[in-house]
Amino acid sequence: MATVSLHTSPLEQPGTGDAGGMNVYVVEVAKRLAERGVSVDVFTRASHPDQPPVVELVPGVNVRHIPAGPFGELDKRTLAHHLCPFIFGVLRTEASNPRGHYDLVHGHYWLSGRAGLAAAHRWGVPMVQSMHTLAKVKNSHLASGDSPEPELRVRGEDHLVRSADHLVANTTDEARQLISHYGADPARISTIPPGVDLDVFTPGSRREALRHVGLPPDSEMLLFVGRLQRLKAPDVLLRAAASLLERDPRLRDRLVVAVVGGMSGSAGTEPDHLTELARSLGISDVVRVEPPRTRAELAHLYRAATATVVPSYSESFGLVAVESQACGTPVLASRVGGLPTAVHDGVSGVLVDGHAPEDYARELHRLVSEPGWRDTLGNAAVTHAAKLSWGATVDGLLNVYRGALTREPLPVAANQ
Ligand code: UDP
Repeated sequence: MATVSLHTSPLEQPGTGDAGGMNVYVVEVAKRLAERGVSVDVFTRASHPDQPPVVELVPGVNVRHIPAGPFGELDKRTLAHHLCPFIFGVLRTEASNPRGHYDLVHGHYWLSGRAGLAAAHRWGVPMVQSMHTLAKVKNSHLASGDSPEPELRVRGEDHLVRSADHLVANTTDEARQLISHYGADPARISTIPPGVDLDVFTPGSRREALRHVGLPPDSEMLLFVGRLQRLKAPDVLLRAAASLLERDPRLRDRLVVAVVGGMSGSAGTEPDHLTELARSLGISDVVRVEPPRTRAELAHLYRAATATVVPSYSESFGLVAVESQACGTPVLASRVGGLPTAVHDGVSGVLVDGHAPEDYARELHRLVSEPGWRDTLGNAAVTHAAKLSWGATVDGLLNVYRGALTREPLPVAANQ
C-alpha cells in the first residue's frame, strides 16, 4: 500500500519543526503493518539534495523521497503550491516500481490527502484519509498571536471529506467534528485511537529515573514534552510554576521545570523566549529548556517527573500524555481535543478547564504535596495507557482497509 506523508518525513526526529505525533504514528503503524505482511511505501517530500530516493525503514517499509519545490524546510502554508510536482513524482514512482501496483492509499494530514486522492483516482484504488488536525477546529481555538489556517486548507479538507472512501478519526471528538463542521457521512468514519509503544514507555522507579537524569532523589520535576508551539502553551506551565512557588516557596530548592522540544516554524515559541519568560517570572533557577530527545531518553524523563503537563489550546490526540502515563506518571492537561480521551480525568491524571496558571498551580500543588495522590494517579495511568497499543490501532486500520477494498469506490467529487 502507499502511505502519503507529504510535509514531514517519518525519518525525522519528532519534537521539532513539523515532526511530531503524526511522524510517530506513520512509523509505528507502518512497522506493524509490515510485520503482518502488508508492505508499505511512505511518500514524503524530499527536503535535502543528499537524500536517497528510497530508504528502507525496516524490511517491508520504504520511505520514498519525492522532489517537489525547493529543498529545505518549507512552511506548510507554501507547500500547497508544490502539490503538482509531488503528485507527478508519486505517479512516476508507481509506474516504474518493480514491486507492482499499490492497492490502497492512506493520506495523513490534508496536504497528503490532496496528493493521495489524485494518485488513488489515477490508479483506481481506495483512498483512506486521516486528517490528524482540522482547520476549522484549529481556527476556533487559536492561541494569542497565532494566525488562522487559510481558506485553501478549509476547502481542501471539505473536498477530502466528500471524496475519500473512508475517514479515520483519532478520537470520537474528531469524528463528531468531521460530521458537525464538515458534513462527513458518519457511515464513512471509523474512530481508531493511536497507540503507545509499551516496550519503550514502561513504568519504573522514579528514584532511579531521577538519578539517571542527574537530579537528587527529592526533586519534583514538572515536565513539558513537545514542539515549542504557542498552541501547546509551554508558557502556561512556566506561569503555573511561578504561581506554585508563590504558594509554597519552600519547594524552590527541589523544583525543576523541564521543557523538552524544539522550534516549530512560524507558529513556534523560541526557546529564548521561554528562557526570557522564566527570567521575568523570577524562576530561571528552576527552569531548563532542552533540545528534543530520543524516545528512549524521553522514557527516563517521564519516569522521573512528578507530572507531565500538557496545557495545549488545541491537541488532536496528545501522544505525549499517553507515553507519560505508560511510564507511570500522571498528566495534568487542558480539557481540549483528544486529551479527555488520552487522560482519564481524576483517575490517571487531571484535566483543567481553560489556561489560567493558578488553576494549574493548584493541581500541581496537590500533586507535589500529596505523594499518595500522585502515586494513585500514576498507578492508574499505567493501566489506562495499556489499553492503547499500536497493535490495536493496526487491527482497526486493517478492518478499515479491508472494508474500503471490498466496497464500490466513490464517484470523483468536484473540486471547489
Ligand atoms: N517527541 C520526541 N522527542 C521530543 C519531543 C517529542 O520523540 O523531544 C515525540 C513525543 O514522544 C510524541 C510526539 O513527538 O510521540 C509528539 O506527539 P503529540 O501527539 O504529543 O503532539 P503533536 O506533535 O502531534 O502535536
